[in-house]
Amino acid sequence: MSVDIQTLVEKYNTPLYVYDFNNITNRYDELKDAFGGKKSLVAYAVKSNSNLAVIRHLANLGAGADCVSIGEVRRALQAGVKKYKIIFSGVGKKDSEIREALEEEILLINLESEAEMKRVEMIAKELNIEARISIRVNPNVDPKTHPYISTGLHENKFGVSLDSAKRMYIYAKKSDNLSPVGIHFHIGSQLTELAPIREACGIVADLVRSLDAIGIDIKFFDVGGGIGVVYDNEVTIAPADYAAAILSQIKGLDVTILSEPGRYMMANSGIFLTKVLYEKVNGDKRFVIVDGAMNDLLRPSLYNAYHKIEAVQKEGEKSKADIVGPVCESGDFLGKDVLLPLMEHNDILVVHSAGAYGFTMSSNYNTRGRAAEVAVFDGEAHLIRERETFEDQIRLEASCDTSWQN
Ligand SMILES: *Cc1c(COP(=O)(O)O)cnc(C)c1O
Repeated sequence: MSVDIQTLVEKYNTPLYVYDFNNITNRYDELKDAFGGKKSLVAYAVKSNSNLAVIRHLANLGAGADCVSIGEVRRALQAGVKKYKIIFSGVGKKDSEIREALEEEILLINLESEAEMKRVEMIAKELNIEARISIRVNPNVDPKTHPYISTGLHENKFGVSLDSAKRMYIYAKKSDNLSPVGIHFHIGSQLTELAPIREACGIVADLVRSLDAIGIDIKFFDVGGGIGVVYDNEVTIAPADYAAAILSQIKGLDVTILSEPGRYMMANSGIFLTKVLYEKVNGDKRFVIVDGAMNDLLRPSLYNAYHKIEAVQKEGEKSKADIVGPVCESGDFLGKDVLLPLMEHNDILVVHSAGAYGFTMSSNYNTRGRAAEVAVFDGEAHLIRERETFEDQIRLEASCDTSWQN
């Protein structure tokens, strides 16, 4: 990143998320270019980092948005994503969310069950429109990633089997209020192997061909997200190889390729900065206690995820330490057995690869205000989310009538 970390911390304090917007541009361009002249839309997975400035930046580059709640759809619209580039996915949508998405005339609603299709049909009928839908199929492919972030196996709750998908397409085709124009799958996150992607594409492309044979014309082939990133020393998938693997499976199909990258776009575009409070030793175990915690960055506690952690401008002999936050949970850690020199009060630690599923998974647990967020663009830093105050946190409680308790 092209700005001095010390300066950022002096100006914005910690805990702090910092995103490199030039890196986001590079990631977007690389993926978009990988699809070459083929019709494609990169629909950014808003859940990975839903800051309005991040979405706006991607919208300016031409990206669409993959949303999993009406709140995310609203964010995308607010940030300037074109409505015809917005996809609404997710395993459970409320009627009110479906209605609003239809009224906003977004590109596609991704259906994840037959029951959901019936709800969408009913609401579209009330609105007297034809809902553009896509069906999420579960190709039953093992993505070879962490079980918590694997989604494309029958044992996962996502999508429908190939057989039910076909039945649903036939039903939708006959319906006056459904327009089945897309097909969707998303087999998991942090994918580092191409074979499962190629396999899933092949299976789904075959379904598209068999639908074509019965007069159902699929226009959008949505390969989901999931491209893995480097947290430690993973060997990841190059965008060019990713695109080539997809294209090799859809030969002859006249479709627009949709992709829904989240982590790929954001993980290594962001860092999390935290200050050391103090060190302590229990028995022979060394702890560095910092002002950032699991409520700020949950991934280590939730998935035992690894984030590289480094001290800023600190010399000295290194030994292993657990980096822990102030939250009252044994599971509150940012890193384990991290090699660090002796740390002093107010020294800064950089937690790398924190741009995706960092801030968006943060909470107010222990009545800790959420961190501030800063964008760095062309060498300049800009605040894109203020640090949450105590008043922000209690606002919805303080506004309630308390006279019944007096
Ligand atoms: C979470 C999710 C994504 C984004 O996944 P990444 O691994 O961050 O790329 C894309 N599509 C759907 C449907 C998702 O649920």
